[in-house]
Amino acid sequence: MSAQLERVRFGPDGPEVPRLGFGAIPIQAIPEAAAVDVVAYAFERGIRFFDTARAYTTSEERLARALRGVREQVFIVTKSAARNREELARDLECSLTNLGTDYLDLFLFHGINREDELCRVLEGPLDLLRERQREGQVRLIGLSSHASEVATRAVRSGEFAAVEFPFNYLELQCLEDLLPTARERGIPFIAMKPLAGGVLSSPEAAIKWLACRPVEVIIPGLRSREEVDRAVAAFLAAQQAGEQALTSEEREAIERDRAELDRRFCRRCGYCLPCPQDIPINFVLAVEQFCHRSGWARLDRRHLELVRKGLACDGCGTCETRCPFGLPLPEMVRPTAEVFLAEARRLRPDLTLPEEEAN
Ligand code: SF4
Ligand code: SF4
Repeated sequence: MSAQLERVRFGPDGPEVPRLGFGAIPIQAIPEAAAVDVVAYAFERGIRFFDTARAYTTSEERLARALRGVREQVFIVTKSAARNREELARDLECSLTNLGTDYLDLFLFHGINREDELCRVLEGPLDLLRERQREGQVRLIGLSSHASEVATRAVRSGEFAAVEFPFNYLELQCLEDLLPTARERGIPFIAMKPLAGGVLSSPEAAIKWLACRPVEVIIPGLRSREEVDRAVAAFLAAQQAGEQALTSEEREAIERDRAELDRRFCRRCGYCLPCPQDIPINFVLAVEQFCHRSGWARLDRRHLELVRKGLACDGCGTCETRCPFGLPLPEMVRPTAEVFLAEARRLRPDLTLPEEEAN
């Protein structure tokens, strides 16, 4: 009999789930049949925790198609970026319809990165979810975030039953306060972006490394049967041997990635904002990963307009003094925007590019 994925209880009253989950961002970027196939295959390989979001276009519907008939055996997480009751109610309704279910195991406020956003959801939309929880539509309520201080505050508020946050061998900011606070309070921690949005050079090393950390579930984005097999094999190896499962090549890959990427990789926390030129710095630096995960087909003129703002960077350095990761931003922002716009011209010639007025 093949080895079973290690299971963990998801919160004091939650169900048991396998610790290796499935991040469903990339399934919007591949053909529908392939998307349904990879999700069904992940289920076959023992994965039961599926993470999607209202913002991931076709992801919810594709998950539903693949998981038809096994709803009671899976744990479904979706998210909404709505910050008021009306929009949240619409998103919830839409997610339930798309997912073909009458309940969600976990519903997250998507991307709570600023203090004012946290206050806004605590003041109104959270009540709506509590009502829906009493009616049985939502079992648990949590949040996702890229900003560790805000996420820690949210966990301390006692209002959320789970937190989803980036964690991988490059993105360690949760280790300071967030993860210890979640552990102390028994709040399940979902490690998102375990492969740092695709920039880490060894997915196996990333999964093995994370499997040995005290988090409930890790949710790599998977887009083929081969990727599912590799993720399951890496997870099982770490489950059996701990960090000893890391080969010498994988240890080298971790060291190399840290050396090369640590001071170039944007964690999308937004602490560098606002920029005096109104440049959405975190968006400019992360848009290529967005295209890699979600597909270039999702790029639209609005995204290009945002990236184009990066051309206006005058190198003032204000952002650099705020970035806790020491990224050399005056050297990065404008060149990143230029390279991306050139790539977008090549891969999406159908999009009318805005005039590069700032040039
Ligand atoms: S260096 Fe560029 S991106 Fe940073 S604050 Fe100044 S203008 Fe904005
Ligand atoms: S540039 Fe630095 S501060 Fe700004 S979002 Fe990226 S990691 Fe955070």
